[in-house]
Amino acid sequence: MSKKKEIDERTHVLQDYAYHYYVLDQPKVPDEEYDRLLRELEELEAAHPEHRHEDSPTGRIGGEPLDQFRKVRHDVPMMSLSNAFDAEELRDFDRRVRDGISGTPVYSCELKIDGLAVTLKYEKGSFILGATRGDGQTGEDITHNLRTIGSIPLKLKEPVTLEVRGEAFMPKKSFERLNKAKAQRGEALFANPRNAAAGSLRQLDPKIAADRHLDMFIYGIGSSPDKDFDSHHEALEYVKHLGFKTNREAARLDSIEEVIDYCEKWVEKRADLPYEIDGIVVKVDSIEDQQQLGFTAKSPRWATAYKFPAEEVVTTLRTIELSVGRTGVVTPTAILDPVSVAGTTVQRASLHNEDLIREQDVKIGDRVVIKKAGDIIPKVVRVLADERTGDEEDFHMPTHCPECESELVRLEGEVALRCVNPKCPAQIREGLIHFVSRNAMNIDGLGEKVISQLFRHELVADVADIYRLQREQLLELERMGEKSADNLLSAIEATKENSLEKLLFGLGIRFVGSKAAATLAMHFETMERLQQADVEELTAVDEIGSKMADAIVTYFAQEEVQELIAELASLGVNMTYNGPKLQEASDIDSVFAGKTVVLTGSMDTMTRSEAKAEIEQLGGKVTSSVTKKTDILVAGEKAGSKLTKAEELGIQVLDESAFTEALGRS
Ligand code: NAD
Repeated sequence: MSKKKEIDERTHVLQDYAYHYYVLDQPKVPDEEYDRLLRELEELEAAHPEHRHEDSPTGRIGGEPLDQFRKVRHDVPMMSLSNAFDAEELRDFDRRVRDGISGTPVYSCELKIDGLAVTLKYEKGSFILGATRGDGQTGEDITHNLRTIGSIPLKLKEPVTLEVRGEAFMPKKSFERLNKAKAQRGEALFANPRNAAAGSLRQLDPKIAADRHLDMFIYGIGSSPDKDFDSHHEALEYVKHLGFKTNREAARLDSIEEVIDYCEKWVEKRADLPYEIDGIVVKVDSIEDQQQLGFTAKSPRWATAYKFPAEEVVTTLRTIELSVGRTGVVTPTAILDPVSVAGTTVQRASLHNEDLIREQDVKIGDRVVIKKAGDIIPKVVRVLADERTGDEEDFHMPTHCPECESELVRLEGEVALRCVNPKCPAQIREGLIHFVSRNAMNIDGLGEKVISQLFRHELVADVADIYRLQREQLLELERMGEKSADNLLSAIEATKENSLEKLLFGLGIRFVGSKAAATLAMHFETMERLQQADVEELTAVDEIGSKMADAIVTYFAQEEVQELIAELASLGVNMTYNGPKLQEASDIDSVFAGKTVVLTGSMDTMTRSEAKAEIEQLGGKVTSSVTKKTDILVAGEKAGSKLTKAEELGIQVLDESAFTEALGRS
């Protein structure tokens, strides 16, 4: 393709994406894909400036204003921000700043709230006009909608004339509520809180915006004829004093390395915030320095936006592989061109089942959006049908098990296809892998690879065989020296002493996860007693439902299972519970016994999960939100709305020192 054609096409695609994003509030692709294409276009244009389009998206800010609203020309343009995608690019920014000023910069770091830029005008202390950024020069008058946002003061504490700028956004809770209601009505959902906020503010009827619980943080001043400031920080203090809401996580930092630490801290902590952020804005704090640095056509030279690693990215789906799990479920897995998502390289993503593949219309060769949230396995979110070339191929689930070739079935009420052959080698192998895994017997040195080899060499056919392994047999395996064989044997030996719950979980009884296994072991204390329990006794245990109880009874009724357990016992595997004795909550002498406790804020002496574990040890239950049923709120530093609510409800509140005292620590 000629360079001209490439630039033409790329410009066209990006214009279309920008239109959907800014004007319709319905992005077609994740931001990461847009940013990547935009950077590529920038490079192409730099190399071939003669082919650059006048209206190229690389030179534009935002989108054009909608016709429905009165247009507002900004007295001071509303700029965009340059981006930094990693620590090195932040250091580059710092170098450019240092080159442009005489002293050393102090940086003001702020959360980059993922909403939309809004400007608010006040005359003699009264709110008179609010507008979107639009294309940076001209925005839309959305005053009627902004007036519905509670945190925007209609009257300031002083009768001043000024223009402030900030981010209007939709808190995560409001977003979830809105999308849930939309789903119930069968309406299209908003892709993210940013688009939901933009969509809500660009409504003609202010009742809609009022209903959607938006909020706004002010992050700067557009113009203030009556007052000058020496620093950005001082300006923020001033707007706060006038009655505006500013973000309290902002920090002033002395070096770019501290800025990088701040950015990295928020990559970890962003999920805990009640609103979405997509990065950190780093601004030179001194106004004099800012003036020295000035602006490019699009953005200030004294600020940049550090963008978080993308959680949604686009890649190509090369093929679909099938795997048979421990319970016989056949799962299709997408094999992808390697791509970095949220900081790790991803090459496989689950497609769950055939129905989902049909629903999402996934074809082999498609460009697909991949998402990875927290530790969860990446998944294919959707297909970019716009980017299809025509060479993509349909995928069909097989009718027979890819491992043992028996016919696959769909059990009633299930979407998954299953292999129901109990002798299917894949299921047996997966069952063995599960048995030795961390939460189960946790045998060091016996991972998926070694198990697969042992299975192939027919050295183990069931879990009892693991305890029959001999040194010579292990030495036959690839890459197994004498030392590793001895280590493995002693690791296997050591797990014979494991407490009952590890074995119970390892057996892979349907519906019995590691938590339920622990509950069962604690209550019944021996395998024998559990084997004899009927549905009634089982369901009497807290957290054991009838479905699980049925599965347990059915499991132990099988002759092969009884034989297997007898074999394990004769091989010396422990069949009793070794953990702390079960105590009735009321037996424990503690303020937390039998109480429902909520944790909020951060503590100096322990993490939240440590605090939770301690409370549970003392017979308390930890839940996440404050309700009338909450007995105690433990409030650390920076406790927010949960504390207010607890106080309103008259719930007992413990600060960190009262809490540690109650734990008997001090
Ligand atoms: P930007 O989002 O990179 O940064 C500028 C904006 O940051 C400001 O306008 C302001 O709204 C916001 N901001 C939040 N907190 C701030 C703070 N404390 N101080 C100053 N500003 C703050 O730039 P942009 O020009 O608004 O938009 C580009 C973004 O839009 C990119 O992330 C891009 O991926 C996305 N985009 C996506 C698509 C798509 O199709 N997915 C299309 C177009 C644009």
